[in-house]
Amino acid sequence: MRKKQKDWAKDMAHQRIQRLFELAYHEFKTHPERSNRYVVLARRIGMRYRVRMPHELKRMVCKHCHAYLVQGATARTRLQGTHIATTCLSCGKQMRLPY
Ligand SMILES: [Zn+2]
Repeated sequence: MRKKQKDWAKDMAHQRIQRLFELAYHEFKTHPERSNRYVVLARRIGMRYRVRMPHELKRMVCKHCHAYLVQGATARTRLQGTHIATTCLSCGKQMRLPY
């Protein structure tokens, strides 16, 4: 019973994180500053319920300053061999991800 409850909580946490990223995406065009706020909330839920951020969402957040990354707007992406180098335009730091 306890385990089931835990699973349910994690499930809910995942859904909320997904939802916050959807909101961040939609708000970005009109209120880019709100997007960062949604990312902060999503991260907080992840930490509280100890759930990992899904891979595809993780790459939308700067791992240095946690800004919401949008190609051509808040981030610049370049192919570097077998990696994608993403430069965060908020803090200027770079992340390298395999693709
Ligand atoms: Zn950054």
